[in-house]
Amino acid sequence: MILTVTMNPSIDMAYTLDTLAIDTVNRTADVRKTAGGKGLNVSRVLHLMKHDLTATGVLGGYFGQYIEAQLDRDGIGHSFTHIDQESRNSIAILHDGGDQTEILEAGPTLSEADADAFMAHFDDLLDQTTLVTISGSLPGGLASDFYAKMVAHAKAKHVDVLLDSSGASLKAGLDAPDKPLLIKPNEDELGALLNTTVDKHDLTALRQHLSDAVFDGVAWIVVSLGAAGAFVKHLDRFYQVTIPKINVVNPVGSGDSTLAGLALALDNHASDDVVMKTAMTTGMLNTMEAETGFVNPALFDTYFNQVTVKEV
Ligand code: ADP
Repeated sequence: MILTVTMNPSIDMAYTLDTLAIDTVNRTADVRKTAGGKGLNVSRVLHLMKHDLTATGVLGGYFGQYIEAQLDRDGIGHSFTHIDQESRNSIAILHDGGDQTEILEAGPTLSEADADAFMAHFDDLLDQTTLVTISGSLPGGLASDFYAKMVAHAKAKHVDVLLDSSGASLKAGLDAPDKPLLIKPNEDELGALLNTTVDKHDLTALRQHLSDAVFDGVAWIVVSLGAAGAFVKHLDRFYQVTIPKINVVNPVGSGDSTLAGLALALDNHASDDVVMKTAMTTGMLNTMEAETGFVNPALFDTYFNQVTVKEV
């Protein structure tokens, strides 16, 4: 079973408007509310791909109940730690033929007791877990090394972790003695981590970036590059992964779908080639759907067969 972690889930509200008018009232009947947060996107894609998973993390209040009800409705197994505060909403306004304006609540600030309760629950869940995915930002109140601590707890039970975060929590995860099995920065996150500008077409520079000492001990580094596919390092091998040109409907959540593909292939002990092709396929399938963190598995084989992996 894969354990997916979402420490700061939200109800994602998407409002579609023809035009967004500022400083006045906007009305719409086109509203979509989904259980969101990056880890829940990963969960949904794993579920759609028929892989066994449990979603965990921290939630609370009426919004937390709504998130759990949505997961129940979709048949997604979950086991969250409950807190005495409301989970958050995230608002995305889709307007003016392709613009997206977002308002993201910070969400609850966790106490030390909340953090301890979650970590104890995580330890219990690890006993039935073969692989962990951790996605997204940390809620307030948790130190930036909280994910690094989770990696250490998982390692103590011989469970590997795929860590998809950015900024200080990713850096802390890389600095800690117990390393995640995989990280999945996109080009901007890679640039921020190395304090440089990433040119996705410069393979020599990409090799150099991924050889930086900051990544020592991390077996897989998957740099997703949107329509350009991915550049990947696995142990001492480097791969350029290219994907076909596709009709993109909504790219939001592609990175999360990519992480789901990586997790399910690694949990199946697939070859390098299949791991990368699966990840690119679930990423692409997400872009072809209006709903975030959603894939149509019936299309999987068609696109999987069009991904190419070249060792460089
Ligand atoms: P993130 O959402 O983390 O920024 P990316 O934008 O790199 O991640 O997307 C992750 C993966 O989703 C890509 O590697 C690719 O497989 C797929 N993808 C994303 N955008 C596109 C696109 N415009 N065309 C085709 N595939 C895409």
